[in-house]
Amino acid sequence: MTETDTKQENVASEKADFIPGPVLLIGPPGVGKGTQAKLLMAEFGIPQISTGDLLREQRKQRTPLGLAADDLIRQGLLVADEIVNAMVAERLRHADCGRGYVLDGFPRTLAQATWLDQHLASHEGSCPVVVISLRVDRDDLLKRITGRRVCPDGHIYNIYSQPPARAGVCDADGKRLEQRKDDTEEVFESRMRVFDEETARVIPHYRGQGRFAEVDGFQPVEAVTTAIRTSLQGFRMGSERPRVPAGK
Ligand code: AMP
Repeated sequence: MTETDTKQENVASEKADFIPGPVLLIGPPGVGKGTQAKLLMAEFGIPQISTGDLLREQRKQRTPLGLAADDLIRQGLLVADEIVNAMVAERLRHADCGRGYVLDGFPRTLAQATWLDQHLASHEGSCPVVVISLRVDRDDLLKRITGRRVCPDGHIYNIYSQPPARAGVCDADGKRLEQRKDDTEEVFESRMRVFDEETARVIPHYRGQGRFAEVDGFQPVEAVTTAIRTSLQGFRMGSERPRVPAGK
């Protein structure tokens, strides 16, 4: 390793040290979990683990898992806990998770939350998760969902609140923007029902564990990021930071 490599490694490590534990972003569809996870990833050099992205990647590769998940995703229904848990377990084994990570869209059920608790507890050096619950008004969510456009490389826009400079074209790489198949009003209603019935129950589970903060997701993107950063700093001050496990 050269001197420059070592310096870069130290900078990355210091940045990641700001993160007090695995960060869980929880919130209804369209609240901005993906956007915030990407910003945390860029700022702190830790990976974003989005179960939605992992499932869409499986679908793109046309694996049996991806094809089985396709129908459920289209309908806004949840993929079975065991499948998603196994996918997350596999992803957490990657070396890049050693300095922390942001889980985006997981856990979405109480069973997934319990599994994650046990999974982390069974790994030496494990430290408790910090949970950021993003809240937003329902009508605003609908606009966010139906207005969302994404480029194949994951850059996210919204035709109402954050349009690209040229309609339908990604500012970052010039690729054509698309609407996700599950970003329709009908699927939104189904996903909200799933959120109310399943994911909302995850919130009291984590609130009881202490390292939990609620953030108003209705604010501009930068203000949400600042609020998340402040919460993370609060958790960090409140505890000696243990190493974040890679989940091996
Ligand atoms: P997302 O990109 O997070 O909005 O997820 C898109 C879709 O993938 C969801 O509507 C579900 O069908 C599926 N999905 C993503 N994460 C999970 C999860 N943790 N558990 C079950 N299904 C999931």
